Amino acid sequence: MVGKIGFSSIFVEEKVYEPLYKTIVECSECGDKKEIVKIYKSSCKCGNLNIDICEPTTKCKFKYFQTISFKETEPIIYDILIVQEFP
Ligand SMILES: [Zn+2]
Repeated sequence: MVGKIGFSSIFVEEKVYEPLYKTIVECSECGDKKEIVKIYKSSCKCGNLNIDICEPTTKCKFKYFQTISFKETEPIIYDILIVQEFP
Protein backbone atom coordinates (compact mmCIF):
# COMPACT_ATOMS: atom_id res chain seq x y z
CA MET A 1 0.00 0.00 0.00
CA VAL A 2 1.29 3.41 -0.97
CA GLY A 3 1.08 6.06 1.69
CA LYS A 4 -0.53 9.35 0.79
CA ILE A 5 -0.46 12.46 2.92
CA GLY A 6 -2.17 15.75 2.05
CA PHE A 7 -2.56 16.61 -1.61
CA SER A 8 0.36 14.84 -3.10
CA SER A 9 2.06 11.59 -2.42
CA ILE A 10 5.66 11.47 -1.41
CA PHE A 11 7.77 8.54 -2.37
CA VAL A 12 10.71 7.97 -0.17
CA GLU A 13 13.37 5.67 -1.48
CA GLU A 14 14.35 3.11 1.02
CA LYS A 15 18.01 3.38 1.70
CA VAL A 16 20.31 1.29 3.73
CA TYR A 17 21.45 3.34 6.68
CA GLU A 18 25.03 4.37 6.24
CA PRO A 19 26.50 6.26 9.14
CA LEU A 20 28.38 9.45 8.30
CA TYR A 21 30.59 9.22 11.32
CA LYS A 22 32.41 6.50 13.13
CA THR A 23 33.36 6.63 16.75
CA ILE A 24 36.99 6.24 17.70
CA VAL A 25 38.27 5.47 21.16
CA GLU A 26 41.89 6.46 21.59
CA CYS A 27 44.05 5.45 24.53
CA SER A 28 45.72 8.52 25.97
CA GLU A 29 48.60 6.36 27.24
CA CYS A 30 49.72 4.41 24.17
CA GLY A 31 47.72 6.14 21.41
CA ASP A 32 46.10 2.92 20.28
CA LYS A 33 42.87 3.60 18.38
CA LYS A 34 39.80 1.40 18.25
CA GLU A 35 36.76 1.83 16.09
CA ILE A 36 33.89 1.23 18.44
CA VAL A 37 31.35 -0.20 15.99
CA LYS A 38 33.61 -2.96 14.73
CA ILE A 39 34.77 -4.45 17.98
CA TYR A 40 33.03 -5.97 20.90
CA LYS A 41 35.76 -7.09 23.24
CA SER A 42 39.17 -5.59 23.07
CA SER A 43 41.93 -3.82 24.92
CA CYS A 44 44.63 -1.40 23.87
CA LYS A 45 48.34 -2.17 23.46
CA CYS A 46 49.33 -1.00 26.93
CA GLY A 47 46.31 -2.46 28.71
CA ASN A 48 44.96 0.88 29.96
CA LEU A 49 41.70 0.50 28.09
CA ASN A 50 39.36 -2.43 28.27
CA ILE A 51 36.37 -2.65 25.96
CA ASP A 52 33.82 -5.17 27.05
CA ILE A 53 30.26 -6.32 26.69
CA CYS A 54 27.66 -5.85 29.38
CA GLU A 55 24.36 -7.66 29.11
CA PRO A 56 21.27 -5.83 30.36
CA THR A 57 19.99 -7.11 33.67
CA THR A 58 16.36 -6.52 32.72
CA LYS A 59 14.54 -7.27 29.49
CA CYS A 60 14.98 -4.49 26.97
CA LYS A 61 15.39 -3.99 23.23
CA PHE A 62 19.18 -4.06 23.43
CA LYS A 63 21.01 -7.35 23.40
CA TYR A 64 24.03 -5.87 25.10
CA PHE A 65 25.79 -2.67 25.92
CA GLN A 66 29.37 -1.88 25.17
CA THR A 67 31.45 -0.63 28.03
CA ILE A 68 34.82 1.08 28.08
CA SER A 69 36.88 1.07 31.24
CA PHE A 70 40.36 2.37 31.95
CA LYS A 71 43.06 1.74 34.52
CA GLU A 72 45.22 4.88 34.43
CA THR A 73 43.90 7.65 32.23
CA GLU A 74 40.61 8.41 30.50
CA PRO A 75 40.40 7.56 26.81
CA ILE A 76 39.81 10.19 24.17
CA ILE A 77 36.52 9.49 22.40
CA TYR A 78 35.64 11.29 19.20
CA ASP A 79 33.75 10.89 15.93
CA ILE A 80 35.43 11.08 12.57
CA LEU A 81 33.73 11.71 9.26
CA ILE A 82 33.62 8.73 6.94
CA VAL A 83 34.79 10.02 3.59
CA GLN A 84 32.76 8.62 0.77
CA GLU A 85 34.47 8.02 -2.53
CA PHE A 86 32.58 8.96 -5.63
CA PRO A 87 33.24 7.23 -8.94
ZN1 LIG B 1 46.87 2.04 25.85
